[in-house]
Amino acid sequence: MTLLGVEQLEARHGLLQAVRGVSFGVDAGETLALVGANGAGKTTLLRTIAGAHKPAAGRISFDGVDVTATPAYARLRTGIALVPEGRRLFAGMTVKENLLLAAAYGRSGHWSLEAVLEAFPLLQRRLNSRAGNLSGGEQQATAIGRALMTNPKLLLLDEVSLGLAPIAVEAVYRSLRGLITGGTTIVLVEQDIGRALSVATRIMCMLEGRIILQGVAKEMTREQVTEAYFGLQRSRRNSS
Ligand code: ATP
Repeated sequence: MTLLGVEQLEARHGLLQAVRGVSFGVDAGETLALVGANGAGKTTLLRTIAGAHKPAAGRISFDGVDVTATPAYARLRTGIALVPEGRRLFAGMTVKENLLLAAAYGRSGHWSLEAVLEAFPLLQRRLNSRAGNLSGGEQQATAIGRALMTNPKLLLLDEVSLGLAPIAVEAVYRSLRGLITGGTTIVLVEQDIGRALSVATRIMCMLEGRIILQGVAKEMTREQVTEAYFGLQRSRRNSS
């Protein structure tokens, strides 16, 4: 069943067109990895789906309802949660306070403080620490936990491994794999193509605001995705 539908979406920053006529769908239970070079439009696309950025044109439907004009707080209530690049936690509040605050804005469901701590064991001994005093990995786990506390039907993750030590990336991805196995529908931006291919059911590659490659992850090679990432497919086509 299609959970998210994106049709001919356009998004701008002033005169700059960051997302150009993008169309795709995400089925319930899928993990879609969005890859592409810096500036390809991935963050703008995720923010537009979450309602944090207003589209210039196109349509977004979620769970069978047109949400194109729905504000971000109301999209959260319908089940779309974004973990933004840079985490944006309330630094002066504890981990527990950050998590409980989010619960007030979402839906009811499986995710509770206990369930989040089970999914992210590294947070258990940090529950009463201020978010601003946490390591990068702990902050990222809190940010994902905070989104889960809203009981999303769709979790949008923007570069969860950015700036983390390799050991912290492993810990965060271990927990993500648990979520994926549990059936959470995820769209994630990931710079590491190998990791994207290993975690996702489907890959979508963006270049200059457009989707230039998409397909089933296990049917794609790292070389194919790398070529699309750097726009080599296009230059090869152009030169032939
Ligand atoms: P990155 O991996 O660097 O985050 P990205 O693929 O997520 O890149 P976006 O951040 O969506 O890409 O940026 C797409 C384009 O929009 C880029 O050209 C970028 O410079 C521009 N852009 C992004 N945010 C803004 C903004 N707030 N104001 C103006 N231009 C912006």
